[in-house]
Amino acid sequence: MFKLSRKLQSLPPYLFLEIDKAKRIARQEGCDIIDLGIGDPDQPTPQYIIDALYRAALDPANHRYALDQGLPSLRRSISAWYKKRFNVDLNPENEVLPLVGSKEGIAHFPLAFLNPGDYSLVPDPCYPPYKGGTILAGGKVYLMPLKEENVFLPDFKKIPLSIIKKAKIIFLNYPNNPTGATAEKVFYKEAIAFAQKHKIIIISDLAYSEMSYDGYKPSSMLEIEGAKDVVVEFHSLSKTYNMTGWRVGWACGNEKLVAALARVKSNVDSGIFSAVQIAAIAALDGPDTHIKNMCALYQERRDLLISGLKSLGWQANNPKATFYAWIKIPRKYDSIKFASLILDKANIVVTPGVGFGKYGEGYIRMAFTVPKERIEEAIARLRKL
Ligand SMILES: *Cc1c(COP(=O)(O)O)cnc(C)c1O
Repeated sequence: MFKLSRKLQSLPPYLFLEIDKAKRIARQEGCDIIDLGIGDPDQPTPQYIIDALYRAALDPANHRYALDQGLPSLRRSISAWYKKRFNVDLNPENEVLPLVGSKEGIAHFPLAFLNPGDYSLVPDPCYPPYKGGTILAGGKVYLMPLKEENVFLPDFKKIPLSIIKKAKIIFLNYPNNPTGATAEKVFYKEAIAFAQKHKIIIISDLAYSEMSYDGYKPSSMLEIEGAKDVVVEFHSLSKTYNMTGWRVGWACGNEKLVAALARVKSNVDSGIFSAVQIAAIAALDGPDTHIKNMCALYQERRDLLISGLKSLGWQANNPKATFYAWIKIPRKYDSIKFASLILDKANIVVTPGVGFGKYGEGYIRMAFTVPKERIEEAIARLRKL
């Protein structure tokens, strides 16, 4: 009787029903599942952030509607954090906008700039909201393949001029989910020059900037000269402070782009719980010991996983950042079949690459969001296959 809207119907299909079902059944049967499928930190939020939330939650002043544009003190902390971390100046008054998690802002942003027939240029494989947000806004998706031979960077020269003319937004995400790839400033410069020439907005998704290894430090796109003409950057406390459930992130950069997103949001939500915003300030203003420890922990797990997979003869490379290993699978399988097989025979959950887009086919993603013993156990099980 109630027909779904054409927009909802045209969203990319959810491909993991079979695997989800198999996982559920295996769990019900009491199988010992090792879940490398989820991109969600397994460690708790640092105590000093929880304490700040607790104290703020006791204050009735924080129980009322929050300001739509976020607490001025949070915007100042974000601006100070950007200065300290990237040496980028952001005006807390109009170049910073707190979000109910960065996914919320990323998914809503296209509503501010896309008209029917307009395109977003979307990397593939990618984090799903880039496509979802574009389609729900009535826009069209043009896929920029991320290929291993291009170190998982898009090739702007391959995009037809007819598409470029109708493109309003480019999505970029480095360090990258799902490939673990990173981008250097030469690429950022090229992207900004391309966007300036063709008057296209760049969305830079920087969710993984603090999760990096071997001394590597990812850059912000806003470090590049002229970036503020075209870039809005999205950031999040989710991965950096083990706060995925708290829902707090931000957009920053070009003033007009930030204001446009704020205008969309004023019609959708009514701000972030003030106590959560105060806890976010504690996180950003706090010492960076937690971040160092987190990176050390993931680095150990990464080394264990990658060296283990290599010892099995698998094709795997150490990612310099993120907690994802992007692994090529034997040609005779597709990624869904391969993931199902591993679940079936070894009780290990991995994400089939095709779930991130068609150019993800031929790969699986493993998240090292489980303790070392579980990674060792996973390798031992795979060895027996
Ligand atoms: C986890 C993740 C985010 C963060 O999402 P939040 O909504 O802030 O929790 C953003 N982008 C990518 C690519 C991610 O993997």
